[in-house]
Amino acid sequence: MRCPHCGSDDDKVIDSRTLANGESIRRRRECLSCGFRFTSYERIEEKPLMVIKRGGRREPFERQKLERGIIRALEKRPISQLSIENLVNEIEDQAAMKGKTANEIPSSELGEMVLDNLYSLDKVAYVRFASVYRKFETVVEFLEVIERLDHGPEHPAASPEPAAADPTANGCGSD
Ligand SMILES: [Zn+2]
Repeated sequence: MRCPHCGSDDDKVIDSRTLANGESIRRRRECLSCGFRFTSYERIEEKPLMVIKRGGRREPFERQKLERGIIRALEKRPISQLSIENLVNEIEDQAAMKGKTANEIPSSELGEMVLDNLYSLDKVAYVRFASVYRKFETVVEFLEVIERLDHGPEHPAASPEPAAADPTANGCGSD
C-alpha cells in the first residue's frame, strides 16, 4: 500500500486484527522507506456501519471523525498516540459489536461510548468531550458532569480500563 507520508509502495504489516463484528480486518502497517505507521482496512463493501443521527438521518461510520473528536478532547493532555489509537480501536470495536444486528448505531449511543471510554482514560478529556457533545446550556448541567466524576459515568463501561491507559506503560518514547 502507498505510504500516506512519503508515497513509497513498500510496507510491512505489523499487526492484523479481525474487528468485533467479524466482517472487517484492520491492519497496522509500517512504511519500509520512512517508518511511518498507518492503518488499513479490509471489509465487505456492501455493509458499512451506519450512524443514525438525530432526526433519523443515516451516515456511514467514520473512524477519522471519531478520532478527530477524541484528539480534540485530549489536546495537550499527557496521553500517548498509542493510547489514543487504542481508545479509537476500542470504541470502533464496541460500535461494530452494538450495531452488528441492524448494521447501524444511534449517534447518541456512540457518544455515550466515547464518554465511557474517555472517563477511564482521562477525566479532563471526559469533561471536555461531554461539554461539546451534550452542548451544555447551563452552568448547572456542566457542574453535574463535574460532580459525576466522583461517582463514575452514568453507564459504566462493561470492559475494564484499556491496558495502555497509562501513558508511561508503553515504549513509544514520544517525549
Ligand atoms: Zn513512507
